[in-house]
Amino acid sequence: MNLTSYFMEATYLVASILFILALKGMSHPETARRGMFMAEAGMFAAIVGTLVGTHIVTWVWIISGLALGSIIGAWMAIWVPMTAMPQRTALSHAFGAFAAALVGIGEFVVHASDMGVITRGALGFEVMLGALTTTGSLIAAGKLQGIIHGKPIQFRGQNILNLAIFLAMVVCFVFFWTHPGAQSVFYSMLGIAFVFGIMLVIPIGSADMPVVMSLLNSYAGLASAATGFVLGNNVLIIAGTLDGFSGLILSILMCKAMNRSITNVLFGGFGAVTAVASSNADGVMREISIDDAAMQLAFANRVVFVPGYGLATAQAQHAVRELAELLESRGVSVKYAIHPVAGRMPGHMNVLLAEANVPYSSLYEMEQINPEFPSTDVAVVIGANDVVNPDARDNPQSLIAGMPILEVDHAKSVIVLKRGQGRGFSGLENPLFFKPCTSMLYGDAKASLSHLAQAVQHV
Ligand code: NAP
Repeated sequence: MNLTSYFMEATYLVASILFILALKGMSHPETARRGMFMAEAGMFAAIVGTLVGTHIVTWVWIISGLALGSIIGAWMAIWVPMTAMPQRTALSHAFGAFAAALVGIGEFVVHASDMGVITRGALGFEVMLGALTTTGSLIAAGKLQGIIHGKPIQFRGQNILNLAIFLAMVVCFVFFWTHPGAQSVFYSMLGIAFVFGIMLVIPIGSADMPVVMSLLNSYAGLASAATGFVLGNNVLIIAGTLDGFSGLILSILMCKAMNRSITNVLFGGFGAVTAVASSNADGVMREISIDDAAMQLAFANRVVFVPGYGLATAQAQHAVRELAELLESRGVSVKYAIHPVAGRMPGHMNVLLAEANVPYSSLYEMEQINPEFPSTDVAVVIGANDVVNPDARDNPQSLIAGMPILEVDHAKSVIVLKRGQGRGFSGLENPLFFKPCTSMLYGDAKASLSHLAQAVQHV
């Protein structure tokens, strides 16, 4: 090894350690920001190491790629709204996986005949996973953005067709592995993998999309790890494996939070049924005025805010913090209840509330806060719907039956802030809104919270 190789391996080691520390940092909201900085530093070290240690054919391509990627990345980070973050993430997975597939095709064109068996296996794996993740992620992004119909697309014999496509892809893979010169088989595998990615994601929709996204993230990571094997690049193997398995663990945790199995998500077609009877979703919704709601809050001992997707669309995180501070200055105990899948991405509520400087100590996870609802005077539901739907607990026929919920209906009084009769992400009616303890405060969440704060000041 010469000096340059030593330098490259040293930067890879530093990058790998930083990636591991970054993941550790991101496991807690208080250290998440530091974790992100570590991940950025790790990526920077890996790029510098690669550029210094690898034989660069032409700098023009490298610099053009860096400039173009930086412009697109900065544009996405600055202008894409928080509410569009899931589809933005899906696009990132598509880009990453496509890059892995392209590297694999490049390696096949140049080195296929002189590759060892293990490397060739890794190459096939890389191209297969890279291709199916590319189209799968593009479909997911299209669904989340509303360009493609968000509901599951299903037809008779779909699982059998998918199985046939999958087997055809695997047969091509095995043939290519044993016959390196079989160009047509290699390109057939690539084409089938692109089709399989589409077929894998179209039957999935609604609340299962985040799990699929997280699985695609995992596939993109594993494709990168395989690229690392093909190129003999250690940092790619480590980073790809971390990415692949953290995505898999996140998928499992999200399935647990929604009380679903991964196989059920992939083959179950959540949301295919459009109208499912809700157990007690009839009667009238009782409306409450700003002044009456403010009165309840001002004279309460314990208030719990329950944020959901509507808080994100209304960008009401600062308004809720201001109202909470006002109530606290009057001696009211205020807590925030965080459901693991509230919003549209894991940690969505934590990120928004952290942005508004809500102290982390005021945030309570579902298991911690649920026993406290019976002693809560007012639970204020801010643009949340599915995550407080009692049907998930009480109605075994419901599409979301078994999904753990925030049990706000056990509070003495519930005030729901929403704009109108809109349904949640699952499209289901919510019996909570018809319960005698519940009153509805209609309007945009940010405006309602600001009006409530003004009214509380005059109580
Ligand atoms: P939700 O079920 O989607 O309900 C959001 C509610 O907010 C709607 O009923 C809507 O009613 C109201 N709303 C929208 N804009 C508003 C505004 N500007 N002001 C006030 N209210 C507003 O939200 P959730 O309870 O947070 O549940 C999340 C759902 O998304 C779950 O089904 C989850 O599985 C799914 N999901 C989660 C993730 C994740 O990773 N967290 C990702 C994708 C999907 P109006 O229209 O009447 O205002």
